[in-house]
Amino acid sequence: MKYGFGIDLGGTTVKLAYFDETGEMLDKWEIPTNTADGGKNILPDIAQAILKYMEEKKIPKDCILGAGIGVPGAVNSRGEVAGCDNLGWGHFSVRDALEPLLGFRVVAGNDATVAALGECWKGGGQGCNSMVMVTLGTGVGGGIIIDGKPVHGSTGAGGEIGHMVLNRNETAKCGCGKSGCVEQYCSATGIARLTRLALAENDTPSTLRSVEKIMAKDVFDAAAAGDSIAQGVLQQVYAYMGEFIANICCVVNPEVVVLGGGVSRAGQVLLDGVKESFKKWGYHACQDTQFRLATLGNDAGAYGAFKLIAE
Ligand code: ZN
Repeated sequence: MKYGFGIDLGGTTVKLAYFDETGEMLDKWEIPTNTADGGKNILPDIAQAILKYMEEKKIPKDCILGAGIGVPGAVNSRGEVAGCDNLGWGHFSVRDALEPLLGFRVVAGNDATVAALGECWKGGGQGCNSMVMVTLGTGVGGGIIIDGKPVHGSTGAGGEIGHMVLNRNETAKCGCGKSGCVEQYCSATGIARLTRLALAENDTPSTLRSVEKIMAKDVFDAAAAGDSIAQGVLQQVYAYMGEFIANICCVVNPEVVVLGGGVSRAGQVLLDGVKESFKKWGYHACQDTQFRLATLGNDAGAYGAFKLIAE
C-alpha cells in the first residue's frame, strides 16, 4: 500500500491530511498560514509539518506517492502561480519550490478546482465522471471535471464560473472589477444585496426590515416563514442560478451539478429551486443533468489535492 498527503492552502489556515492510496483519509490536522514577508515561510512551514508527521509516525519516504496542494489562485499545468493576493505571493512554481523541501513529488492546482475534484471522487459527485461544482460562498467559485480530469485551463482560470457575465445592464461593480458577474447575484453576499435592493424598492411589510445585517440564511428562513419579499428574492436568485448553470451545461454536459459552499446549507429547498429553474433554461439534451449537494464540507480540498497525485 502507498500513501500520500493532501494540502489545502487557505489564507488563514493550511489543512493537511494523510491518505492511503484508495483515498481513505487516515489523519488530518491544521497549521496557521504565515502570510508575513510575502508568504515566504508558507511552503517551508508545510514541508516541516509533513516531515515531522512522517518522523513521528515512522513513515518511510519510499511508501509516499507524493503531495497534492490546492492553492488560492490561478495555477497552470507547470504548478506556477501568477500571484495569490491573500498569501502575498508573486509569480513562481509552487511545485518546483515544494518538491525539494519534501523530497517527493508535488502536484499543485487551484483550490476551487481541486475541491471539485475531491467532491467528484469521494463526495456529492461520487460515481460520476463529469461534474460541475458550484461553490456558493462569500463569492461564487467552481470547478469542472471532465472524464475524471479537472479542467485547469491555459492560465489556471478554468472553472472560474463566478465571473461569467449574467447581466450586461448591471451598474454595481463585482469584486473582480467587472459588472454583472454571477457572483453579484448568487453568492451569499449577492443574495443579501438583492434583498436590500428589494426592501428599498417598496413598502411591503417584511420581517427582514428589522434585521440589522441581512445574511443569506435570514433570507431563506424568512422565505420559509412566508415572507413575500424573501420569496421574491429567492425566485430571482434561482432564476439566475438556473440560467447560468444551464449555460455551463451546454458547454460541459456533465452528469451531475454539485452545489456546495455556505449557501448550500439551505439544502433541499435550494436544490429544488435551482432544478425547477434549470428545467426552464436547460437545453433539451441536458435535461437529465442531476443536481446534488456537496458532502465533504471543508475536507473537499484535501481529498482533491491528494487525488492530484493518486493517479
Ligand atoms: Zn466578477
